[in-house]
Amino acid sequence: MSETVLSMRGVTRDYAVGGAFRKKATLRALRGIDLTVDRGRTLGLVGESGCGKSTLARILLGIEDPTAGTVLVSGRPIQEYERLARARLIQPVFQDPYSSLNPRMSVEAIIGAPLKVRGEGTAASRRARVHEMAGEVGLPRHLVEAYPSQLSGGQRQRVAIARALIGEPEILICDEPTSALDVSVQSQILNLLHRLKQELNLTMILISHNLAVVHHLADEVAVMYLGQIVERGDADAIFERPCHPYSDALLKAVLPPRAGARLPELGLEAEFPSPVNPPSGCAFHPRCPKADALCTEVDPNPAGIDPVFRCHHPNNFGAAAHPTRAAG
Ligand code: ADP
Ligand code: MG
Repeated sequence: MSETVLSMRGVTRDYAVGGAFRKKATLRALRGIDLTVDRGRTLGLVGESGCGKSTLARILLGIEDPTAGTVLVSGRPIQEYERLARARLIQPVFQDPYSSLNPRMSVEAIIGAPLKVRGEGTAASRRARVHEMAGEVGLPRHLVEAYPSQLSGGQRQRVAIARALIGEPEILICDEPTSALDVSVQSQILNLLHRLKQELNLTMILISHNLAVVHHLADEVAVMYLGQIVERGDADAIFERPCHPYSDALLKAVLPPRAGARLPELGLEAEFPSPVNPPSGCAFHPRCPKADALCTEVDPNPAGIDPVFRCHHPNNFGAAAHPTRAAG
């Protein structure tokens, strides 16, 4: 039976921007996010830079509170967890392994820190566990004594992953975990995450602006645009039959997969809009090849079952892709 581990309902996050010289304004980084992830599943979260992916990650990690809405982790509101209890359950891997590791601490101290903070075991037993974990993530033995400055980007990211997993969390939130790495190393780190996820039955959120990165690992995909999820469903289905014109554009931009970490030009008309002043109706309409008068006026409600999409004129792949439309 599937069991929901993470859920977000109506999650909104506002930031106050402007100030001394500019007029104060509200930037709505998340606009009513509904999301659930079941135990052992990997959700790929994709969308262009600025669409709200990292904000969503910070809220799931409890680093920030939502302005409105609820976040449940294992059935409990995330704010109710005491810090250590939360860290035991959910751990991050961030984009930049150069700034996320303390340069004054040895690899051994970095990986072992979560156990030390909790006062688990003896110094000797923690040390043994660190060595075991280093082996698990493919870090050469001698590097356990090293300092971050002596490691490559890929090795640093292995250290970050070991630190995240040593306390045996249930949930791993990876925010662009390979974006700062050389192309040749990216697939090694993705393969490592893939193996660990299966061995440890982790529930994972994998954030990337690059759909190709997500396709490799995700069971499900959520496509974000300007603080909303515009399409959500089985990863293979979305890769084969994207319903939303935005998912379509994102997919076309990564096919054939480019080596570079940055998303190629989407070939869409207008620029990414400002979350301070989102477009009327469907937020995607100024860039959408299918937009008509309805799209400029009415924000579409989510439709469909799997996938769920938010569009007045979804790509039509026949009844199978649109169970609710076929029924109606
Ligand atoms: P992504 O990770 O998808 O690139 P972010 O979540 O970082 O997107 O940002 C979403 C939006 O929220 C952007 O417009 C960004 O400028 C804004 N934003 C993020 N954090 C802050 C903050 N602390 N203060 C003000 N604006 C922010
Ligand atoms: Mg980000």
